[in-house]
Amino acid sequence: MVKGTTSFGKASSKKTHIVCRRCGHHSYNIKKKRCAHCGFGRSSRIRKYSWKSNK
Ligand SMILES: [Zn+2]
Repeated sequence: MVKGTTSFGKASSKKTHIVCRRCGHHSYNIKKKRCAHCGFGRSSRIRKYSWKSNK
């Protein structure tokens, strides 16, 4: 256990993100049905922004 109450105390039971099968990150939102990392489900192309360098 940790000291005090964590902000994720209530969120522990619910899982909003699962492992994305395209990018492999734990960023696939189940409710939105799209990946927050690569944009899988949102667009056919991989999420990419010019202001953010893709490593
Ligand atoms: Zn993804």
